[in-house]
Amino acid sequence: MSCFNLTGYQPESLLYNRDLSFNDLISPEYREVLWNEWQRILPERKPFKFEYEIITATGEKKWVLEMGQGIYNDNGEVEALEGIILDISDRKAIEDALKYNYEHDRWTGLYNRDYLVSLLKKDAVRKKQSKKALIGINLSMIHVLAAKYGFQYSQNLVKKTAETLSQYCAENRILFYTHEQRFVFYILNYKDKDELLDFSNTIADTLGSLFAMERIGGGIGVLEIEPSQSELDIDLVLRRLLLASEKSISMSARDFEISFYNEELEAMVDRERDIVKAMNDIAAGNSTNDELFLLYQPIIDLRSGALFGFEALARLRTGKFGMVSPMEFIPIAEKTKLILPLGEKVIIQAFRFFSRLKEIGYDKISVSINISIVQLLSPDFTDRLLELMDRMQVDKSNVGIEITESVFTSDYENINNNICKLRESGILIAIDDFGTGYSSLARVKGLTVDCIKIDKYFIDKLLNTDISKAITDDIISIVHKLGCFTIAEGVEHESQLQYLKEHGCDMIQGYLISRPLNEDDAIRFLADCFLKNKAMEE
Ligand code: C2E
Ligand code: MG
Ligand code: MG
Repeated sequence: MSCFNLTGYQPESLLYNRDLSFNDLISPEYREVLWNEWQRILPERKPFKFEYEIITATGEKKWVLEMGQGIYNDNGEVEALEGIILDISDRKAIEDALKYNYEHDRWTGLYNRDYLVSLLKKDAVRKKQSKKALIGINLSMIHVLAAKYGFQYSQNLVKKTAETLSQYCAENRILFYTHEQRFVFYILNYKDKDELLDFSNTIADTLGSLFAMERIGGGIGVLEIEPSQSELDIDLVLRRLLLASEKSISMSARDFEISFYNEELEAMVDRERDIVKAMNDIAAGNSTNDELFLLYQPIIDLRSGALFGFEALARLRTGKFGMVSPMEFIPIAEKTKLILPLGEKVIIQAFRFFSRLKEIGYDKISVSINISIVQLLSPDFTDRLLELMDRMQVDKSNVGIEITESVFTSDYENINNNICKLRESGILIAIDDFGTGYSSLARVKGLTVDCIKIDKYFIDKLLNTDISKAITDDIISIVHKLGCFTIAEGVEHESQLQYLKEHGCDMIQGYLISRPLNEDDAIRFLADCFLKNKAMEE
């Protein structure tokens, strides 16, 4: 390429710096750097290679590559430079496009996770003294909408969110789309925690109105990056930010809550990790101080006053924490799928209890086992359960399984098929915690079950002064109309028992009758019941 084509100047006007020097063509921001580089390299008598921008005669900027070396006089002083200058604008344009793709998310046009990581790494060194924080916005609830309205719908919402959040970008506030349905603001040089909280509240309000129609929420996590001596562990920083945003989601499904990352949260995560480890050891049969066992809570038939059976309730005792509530470990086991091996252990222990009962002559006592949706959805669960019952010679009509209402939100067809198969074999199916979750009476009607367990919430309502407002009696009669029998859960007071009797509830379970018992106590309870009933009959 000729000098004119590249610069817009004839070579004569540049020769011997006649009209202007080549240095004048170099875009001003590069001049000092280049000058310093020449100063450094030329005394070493090495060739040099620089990339910079020039400004042509028409004012256009062009990228050039300069390769050259010095010409030295006898004293070793530089007299001139010789070399070539190439137009690399096309190459630079491609490089820029590649860089853009490397640093940006295609869908939202925002910076991506890779760029955030590289920026955090750079700033950890470059801006050591600056206050730095991350605000993570987690919209993982969008997957519910994706399942309902399709992928495109949720993707468009993500785009809309990106546009909305972009309004809040500023010089010290950069927005990233780091992962599917997750955004991060990187904030530099903020004043204090209050400023972060104010900003997070603004974001929460904005997103709250953006998602009002969709009736979903999300989580906002805030993490202040502490200045540290050692190298910044960026994976750890981002994992902590995610933890904080997930904690916010667990606080409320509808709104946008805000959680600051702190050590308490870390402790929670550590505890969860230890519980997972204990459950893993139990599942693998490793000998540790951790133990999974069952307690049995009696269920009484209100009409006859006789013992109908027991509900098997899992207990976890770990060497580190002692007793861990099922409300804590069951959701973790479900999340990690450890519920599959642990659930099987529960089933086997319950079946052993059956054998024990049979041995001592009680062969009409029912035992119901709580089954998680994860188990029900596992393809070989039903066959495995039926096989275990045959192998352990358990009378199927004595076995009950309890499933929570969350089954209504999942793969309904598949679940209903599995339930039908179990029911046909004679197993009793109960819907647990009825009335608290996603129940739709239409769905219950479509689902073939035998029993509805009315949640403690509706039993507690019976203690209110204005009992006429309780709808517990309506629930009982609707359930009867659907052809199912009712068990009231969590009965603690005589007055509740009386109401339930009067309104035709079939069975009850609760502390008023008994707390969950270990095997020996359960058998003693059973024997007492038999004696009492016999005495009443006589
Ligand atoms: P659930 O199946 O609804 O069990 C009833 C819960 O209410 C039990 O809590 C029981 O101890 C408690 N309860 C019973 N009567 C009363 C009462 O009068 N007052 C009060 N305040 N509470 C009462 P627990 O044992 O802590 O179990 C909690 C939940 O954990 C169970 O609720 C069940 O959903 C789940 N769970 C327990 N064992 C298993 C299991 O083996 N597998 C699965 N998937 N879930 C289980
Ligand atoms: Mg239950
Ligand atoms: Mg329940």
